[in-house]
Order: sequence, then C-alpha cells, then structure tokens
Amino acid sequence: MKLLTIGAGIGGLTAAALLLQQGWDVTVLEAATYPGGCAATFTHKGYRFEAGATLAGGFDPDGPHTRVAQRLGLQFPVEPIRDAAWVTHLPEASIHQWVDAERWREEYLTKFPFSARFWQTQQRLAKVAWNLSARDFPFPPATLQEALRLPLALRPEALIAAPYLGQKMANLLPQQSGADFRAFIDANLLISAQAVSAQADALYAASVLDLPRRGVMQVQGGMGGIAQTLAQWIVANGGQVLYRQRVERLETVQGKVRAAITARQNRFEADVFLANLTPWALENLLGAAAPNSLKRETRTRPAMWGAFVVHAALQAEKIPQTITHHQVVTDVHQPLGNGNSVFISLSPPADSTRTALLSTHVRAADWQGLGKTEYADKKAALAQKMLLAAERALPGFGAAAQLLLTGSPRTYEFYTRRPLGMVGGFPQTSLFAARGPQTGLQNLWLVGDSIFPGQSTAGVTLGALRVARLLGERNPL
Ligand SMILES: Cc1cc2nc3c(=O)[nH]c(=O)nc-3n(C[C@H](O)[C@H](O)[C@H](O)COP(=O)(O)OP(=O)(O)OC[C@H]3O[C@@H](n4cnc5c(N)ncnc54)[C@H](O)[C@@H]3O)c2cc1C
Repeated sequence: MKLLTIGAGIGGLTAAALLLQQGWDVTVLEAATYPGGCAATFTHKGYRFEAGATLAGGFDPDGPHTRVAQRLGLQFPVEPIRDAAWVTHLPEASIHQWVDAERWREEYLTKFPFSARFWQTQQRLAKVAWNLSARDFPFPPATLQEALRLPLALRPEALIAAPYLGQKMANLLPQQSGADFRAFIDANLLISAQAVSAQADALYAASVLDLPRRGVMQVQGGMGGIAQTLAQWIVANGGQVLYRQRVERLETVQGKVRAAITARQNRFEADVFLANLTPWALENLLGAAAPNSLKRETRTRPAMWGAFVVHAALQAEKIPQTITHHQVVTDVHQPLGNGNSVFISLSPPADSTRTALLSTHVRAADWQGLGKTEYADKKAALAQKMLLAAERALPGFGAAAQLLLTGSPRTYEFYTRRPLGMVGGFPQTSLFAARGPQTGLQNLWLVGDSIFPGQSTAGVTLGALRVARLLGERNPL
C-alpha cells in the first residue's frame, strides 16, 4: 500500500513512520528544508532558535512519545526535566509547576490553600483521560471499526468522569478562587487547551493541567530533534522524506485523491494520502474538488489562535537561571494573550550561547491586511510589551539580548504554510465538537493538531497513533 504524507510535522512523520513499520511504502513531502513545522529548530546567524514548541511532554512510561519510540525501536534525544516544568509568575506570586507530585502538592497548598479539593478532582479526571489515551481511545470515531472499539477502550473507572461530561473547567474552580487563582489556571489552559477555564472542556482541561507531571523533557540540540529522529528513522527503514517539495494541488477522481502535484510540477501518486495540514490548507489544495463538508467546516468552525513570538540570542553568563521555562501574567484582571500572558523558554544553561523564545497568543486575523508601517509598529509595540514581561521573570533579560527577531502570524503563515498563521489546533471547548481525521474523501485523512486531541507534540502523536491504526484496519496488507 502506497502512502503519501503532505508535511513533515510531528503528526505527519509519526503516522508515516508507524505505517512504514506496518509494511507500507511511504513518502513524505515537506515544503521546508528541514522537518518539524511548528516544533522545528532553525539556525540564524549561527544561533539555534525554536520555531514554536519548546517543552516536550508525553514521555512518561505510557506516554505517546514513549510508545512510538518502543514500537519503532528508536530513541529520542531527550533529557528529563527534574525540577520545575515551568514557573508561572503572577504580579503577587510565582508558582512552580514541580514535576514531583508531592512537591507540587506542597506548592499549591502554600500558594492556594483553598484549592486542595479542586486539585484532587483534577487529578482523578486527568488519570482517566491519560489512561484512555494510553489505550489509543479512537475519539471521535471516524469508522465503524473505531465506533465498535470505543466501548472496549472504556473501563469502569472512566465512569467517575461521567458527571463532568459537557462541563466547562470554570464550573470546577473553588468558590474562593480569586483573580490570581483564575489567572494561574487560565494561563496554563491557554497554552495547553487553547482556551481559558470559562470555555475549556473540563475533562480535557483536567488532563492538560497534569502535563508537568507527565514526562516533560528537554530535547537535546533543540526541539527539532524529535522530528529529525523520526525523519531519519523513516529514511533508514526504506521510506522517503523529500524536502523543498511544496504540494500545490491534489488531483481527485471519483471521490478519491489520485495524485499530489508540487510547485516544481512533480507528480506523486499513492493509494492513501495523509494531510499534515489544517482544514483550511487542505481546502486550498483541493480547490473546486473540496467536499462540501470541508467547505462548510472552514466557513463555520471558530478560528485557531495565532502566535506572536520574539526570538532572542542571549549572553549566557548574564542569564544563569537553570529553570528553563517561565510564564508571566502581567495583569490578572485583563484578558490573557496579546502580551498580557507570555511563555518564555530558554535553551539549557549548558549551551554556550543561550537563546530564548517568548510567545503570546494573538488573534491571527488581526495581523492581516496591515500596511507596512502599521505592521512594523504593531510588531515593535507587542515585542516591547513581551520583553518587559521577560524582564520580570528573568531580571537582566534585555541587557543580555544580543539579537532579537520577531515573528507574527504572517511569519508562521510563510514558514509553516498554515493559512492566516493559525497555529495550536482548535480550542478544546467541548468533546462533542472534537474533530476526527476524516476529510470527506475516501483515501485522504488529516493528521496533526487539527484533529483530536489537538496541539502539542504529545497531542499530535496521539492523533498519529490513532490514524495509523485506523488506516491499518481499513487497508490490511
Ligand atoms: C509559539 C508556539 C509554541 C508552542 N509551544 C509548544 C510546546 O512548548 N510544546 C508542545 O508540545 N507544543 C507546542 N506548540 C504546539 C506544537 O508545536 C504543534 O501543535 C505541533 O508541532 C503541530 O504539529 P503538526 O503535526 O500539526 O504539524 P505542523 O507543525 O503544522 O507541520 C506541518 C508541516 O507541513 C509542511 N507543509 C505545510 N503545507 C505543505 C504543503 N502544501 N506541501 C508540503 N509541506 C507542507 C509545513 O512546512 C510543516 O513542516 C507550540 C506552537 C507554537 C506555534
């Protein structure tokens, strides 16, 4: 069976590698000159910068990356983070997200003494969700086989989650929650569920609040090491990963895709196609042949967020901090994003030149249609706000910076080819609105952060495990 994967993001590469291992003939086409997409590492003026993702979770014994590594017999170049996964800096307090569960308990009891019962509920729900994900829970089912497998993947203990189905995380917050506790929860949910507590699905939100204690890693040489390892494994095992191959169009015949045509006018035929793309990008490739369901979806689904980033090259001796990830909320009474909440990641202290990535959520559409000056001013103002936030978490940050680069949703649109620069998958507001991998065409499937469970290298790996199994079931060799 011949598989063509469009895009060498973590989702596309993982699914391709798993199918290659099942005996498929696999080719991955990537528009860029390196793999990883939003989780790539790139070099500029001799400095190594992260494209987006900086913190890798899901490496615990049952975690998706661990399961993929075991199945493929490969090793990702990762080192466990042992102290704090990250620190959230609020105006009045800094909360350490300790990896160690007991230390974390002490932290929340000290910083938020009223919150013990909330965290107990969160941990019970998270356990259910992570156990389901470890059993490749095929949600939402896309085929009859998946629908039949769904009840088997459930266990009686999952029943404790039933009363929370359809609830928002805000309903679970303690009555005594003040603005600080809410901002802490919201900032953490925004980066991991793409929605704050008033909108985030309670079960999903409970599971991602557990991320710091679910095998968080530092990737040696940069986050791109995950994608590089997968791409090298594919090539070493007889598959192909071809760079500078931007797919421009998909050719369809009678409800099936027949070939992908690249900008260089190369034509690749296959039996099955995997699109490591957003629905909007897929619609662009299909043009008039896009199924009505896909056209409707791109018109009606709420947009994904955009990201604004500042990359900094730093004089290492001026930034001695060993905790590498920080999150700053400047005003707990104002909406998050737009520089009011900033996630800051440093490369490890052992690096001779340290680099940092500062990121904040923005509305992608707000960055379209601006004149040259307006765009430059908007970038400069937001970068300035974010640098002030960085200064709060890491005093001396500005003085240590030797080089600054900014990236807006337009930058993401250019480099990752995601329309409008929409990143991070769909906000996880309701399990009933979760998107599966189906596209409306028989032999074309989506993979990546547009499908449930959405964003993060761990999330897209779960999606890839599910899609590889689904395709294996539909097309037995
Ligand atoms: C600022 C930021 C910070 C983040 N932080 C974290 C974090 O700390 N931890 C974490 O786990 N996740 C984080 N994420 C999310 C994570 O990076 C993504 O959810 C994940 O990497 C997306 O993977 P994907 O499989 O959907 O593919 P993408 O990363 O979207 O990759 C798709 C690939 O397809 C290629 N492509 C697109 N169109 C075409 C075409 N027509 N032809 C050929 N190739 C094409 C692109 O070049 C790209 O390489 C962050 C994201 C951003 C933007």
